[in-house]
Amino acid sequence: MSTEAAAGDFIREIVADDLRAGRHRTVVTRFPPEPNGYLHVGHAKSICLNFGIAQEFGGRCHLRFDDTNPLKEEQEYIDSIKEDVRWLGFDWGEHLYNASDYFGRLYEWAELLIGKGLAYVDDQSADQIRESRGTLTEGGRESPFRNRSVEENLDLFRRMRAGEFPDGARVARAKIDMASPNINLRDPVMYRILHARHPMTGDQWCIYPSYDYAHGQSDAIEGITHSLCTLEFEDHRPLYDWFIEHLPVPARPRQYEFARLNLTHTVLSKRLLLQLVKEGRVRGWDDPRMPTLSGMRRRGFPPEGIREFARMIGLAKRESVVDYAALEHSARDHLNRTVTRRMAVLRPIKVVLTNYPDGQVEEFAAVDNPEDPGTGTHPVPFSRVLYIERDDFREEPPKKFYRLAPGREVRLRYAYLVTCREVIKDASGEVVELRCTYDPATRGGTAPDGRSPKATLHWVSAAHARPAEVRLYEHLFTNPYPGAEGDLIADLNPRSEEVLTSAWIEPGAAGLAVGARVQFERLGYFCVDPDSRADGLVFNRTVTLRDTWAKVQARER
Ligand code: ATP
Ligand code: MG
Repeated sequence: MSTEAAAGDFIREIVADDLRAGRHRTVVTRFPPEPNGYLHVGHAKSICLNFGIAQEFGGRCHLRFDDTNPLKEEQEYIDSIKEDVRWLGFDWGEHLYNASDYFGRLYEWAELLIGKGLAYVDDQSADQIRESRGTLTEGGRESPFRNRSVEENLDLFRRMRAGEFPDGARVARAKIDMASPNINLRDPVMYRILHARHPMTGDQWCIYPSYDYAHGQSDAIEGITHSLCTLEFEDHRPLYDWFIEHLPVPARPRQYEFARLNLTHTVLSKRLLLQLVKEGRVRGWDDPRMPTLSGMRRRGFPPEGIREFARMIGLAKRESVVDYAALEHSARDHLNRTVTRRMAVLRPIKVVLTNYPDGQVEEFAAVDNPEDPGTGTHPVPFSRVLYIERDDFREEPPKKFYRLAPGREVRLRYAYLVTCREVIKDASGEVVELRCTYDPATRGGTAPDGRSPKATLHWVSAAHARPAEVRLYEHLFTNPYPGAEGDLIADLNPRSEEVLTSAWIEPGAAGLAVGARVQFERLGYFCVDPDSRADGLVFNRTVTLRDTWAKVQARER
């Protein structure tokens, strides 16, 4: 056991203490997603916690699909979840399970509870059951079917299973306490009739266990020692414990709750994310603006950055909202250390060096990554006609604008000092070209007389550059708390995606593969999108270079 683990959060302390005291020989955790959507960064917090603890304490972590609702679950989701957990850097080894693996045992145990008079078949409708369950302040009412004989209950339950009744005709409920202050203990539903095909069990079943009935027993069957979940399940714990107490389970898992991850400017709920996908508000589950792991991967977030983020936010017992900038900060930090630099011009304006020989090409050696001494350089071609960023020129520069302007000298990165001599406009008055001169004595960017312009600009050689599409992303929601005023869709950011179709990249970026990450100097970190084609790469901006997280922290202090 590492000291870091021992000095961790409250859950790691509990685990360390249990191992020290000999309450468990090995720690067994699990990540139990319901395959009804794609995983999001909230799930990443849970994955990093469960798999992380198993790694740190030399135990194991199971991946278990909580597949109790065949109406909402799909193979596509199962596949994506496996891919995303692996991408995050975790491995369940042989320990891949499904709640449906236990349908047989769960059914037998339900018969057992019925046999003990601890469960019954209720003929009330779902609405009647909901209505008679009471409220937080008022107790529930007992079902008129609550006191059926064991024989009648068993007979009805078996006929439910045999498919004799239509969907919704009956349910099986635990017989606990309709007056309990905890609503979860007011005779919760254990089984409902659903004539639906299941991705794993096919047509074998027409009754399906509720999540609450399946969950704790699944943990027990797998020998989970620490069942870690989010706070909303705290009130369900007495129910899980009740089932465990009354059933011949092979082990007794203990449940611990932690606060879920909430992030500003986004929603972390599969239901709401599904709504965005279905309504076509985004390009799909893997849209680079989505907080899904597949979206973040497509956007260019490195898994290491997400793991670091999970470590940085830690674990708490109280709900809070983490600033989105913290996530970007973790990504940027990793990207800065690891990705290669290239030059690209997103909104180009043409620059002609009037005193540079026509047809001449020079090559400069550009540093691959100044943060990583192990990397080298790559050649960047330079010639008479270049593109620079339109933003880097102002005909009438305001105060503190040090970049290019008429009569002003700037440095072109790796190349020469150049001075703007003439501004060419089209009929409408728009600037279309800048005529500049270069100083041949400043090769490499330093002047022999020591003069040093305040600005260094990135550029590409027009004859060598390759066209690219660049997609810039902002928050998906303008409201930091989307939906807080009642209308989630109204909070969508209409400018969350900006597509630039006339960008140019240096030739050294043209060979990047889909998924490759790169820093375009002065612009930010980018990732090659799967929409790329042979005749043009598509880049997604992952994050800008500007770190707003430090500002956020300063404000919080
Ligand atoms: P959603 O509300 O997005 O549908 P869920 O809790 O219903 O999420 P599950 O598939 O049941 O989704 O979640 C699997 C595990 O991930 C659970 O243990 C759950 O506690 C955890 N989890 C889900 N959302 C978050 C979150 N925002 N932060 C931390 N853990 C989360
Ligand atoms: Mg859930």
